Amino acid sequence: MDGADAPSPKVEVYLDHAASTPLRPEARAALRSWLGEDGAVVGNASSSHAAGRRARVAVEEARERVATALGAHPHDIVFTSGGTEADNLAVKGLAWAGAESGRRHLVVSAVEHPAVRDAASWLADAQAFTVTWVAPDADGTVPVDAILDAVRDDTAVVSVMTANNELGAVNDVATLADALADHPAALHTDAVQAFATLPVDLGHLRVDALALSAHKFGGPQGVGVAYLRRGVPIVPIAHGGGQDRGVRSGTFAAALDAACAAAVEAATLDRAELASRLPGWTDRLSAVLTTLHGVRRNGPADPARRLASHLHLSIDGVEGEALTFALDQAGVRASGGAACSSGSARASHVLEAAGVDGDAALRLSLGWTTTDEEVERATALVPEIIAKLRAGEAVT
Ligand code: PLP
Repeated sequence: MDGADAPSPKVEVYLDHAASTPLRPEARAALRSWLGEDGAVVGNASSSHAAGRRARVAVEEARERVATALGAHPHDIVFTSGGTEADNLAVKGLAWAGAESGRRHLVVSAVEHPAVRDAASWLADAQAFTVTWVAPDADGTVPVDAILDAVRDDTAVVSVMTANNELGAVNDVATLADALADHPAALHTDAVQAFATLPVDLGHLRVDALALSAHKFGGPQGVGVAYLRRGVPIVPIAHGGGQDRGVRSGTFAAALDAACAAAVEAATLDRAELASRLPGWTDRLSAVLTTLHGVRRNGPADPARRLASHLHLSIDGVEGEALTFALDQAGVRASGGAACSSGSARASHVLEAAGVDGDAALRLSLGWTTTDEEVERATALVPEIIAKLRAGEAVT
């Protein structure tokens, strides 16, 4: 078959940055150098010989760079295997520390990622903690008053995400943190989805714990950050060598930590520009798609309360998995809800809690590599595919 007859490869339109983002060049360069590509052995950062000391320098430099970008002290930064571990460490570790002084109650929003939600449920089911679940408003935001109303004298942990992964709804964590400043409960926020487009300044934000995941802002998969404010008691969730502050055990992942720091810095540098560029595209997609009958935009109407990167739609007359499959066939990578819990065709707990209806949910999430061309292709392809599916036509 000569070149002219070969089927043209479909242009990939990647609109699933909320699930995972392409690696930034700065992160790739850090990975390459700290994986030992230049021939130098990267030792175990806990070893005292030269190879170990080199790795230790990589880890400590990475910690300092992350701390500087977040407005935190390096001692407050613990590297983890990702957002899931950072959330588990915060929720369980702070809850166990609270229990040591007799506090066994948690306040958790009903729209948390499973990394928080299931950790809290497990504490209730297996560990005799009590959880008060706080419902969101219909736009997915969690009212600060409702959280504060749920807090009791014996509350050990309050956990409210900075922004929701499905609806992109942004919560007023700063007001919550100020209101809880004099309460012994520890405040944790999952900022995994927010970090790419919303500034995080821990010099001013009075949370006790915060979770990040590098692959959501151009870093590699398998590394994240738990910010744990100094002086806030926490019990480790895994036993071992206690390498990181005695709170997190496991050999330091020097290359991943360095790449995470590079991504944190790069994301911090281009965040403002990204946050001002993306809404033009999400609004354009929304404007085109919501002219179709039976298509509605979900999440907050106020742009200040929703992530610049996320567009969430309800679509009637199509089946969710068929839609994302057909989009994928056409080269459009998108999510029917949240990729992290995909595999289940059930409505997500987030959409249920916010009372979002519709036959199918479609999340289009944009990020640092998104181009005009991708957005234009999506505005053409998504309506075409919805029309074909509704007409019962095959999508190839
Ligand atoms: N928290 C939120 C809000 C997320 O969206 C995700 C992943 O999608 C996680 C936590 C888990 O992060 P990781 O994939 O790094 O474990």
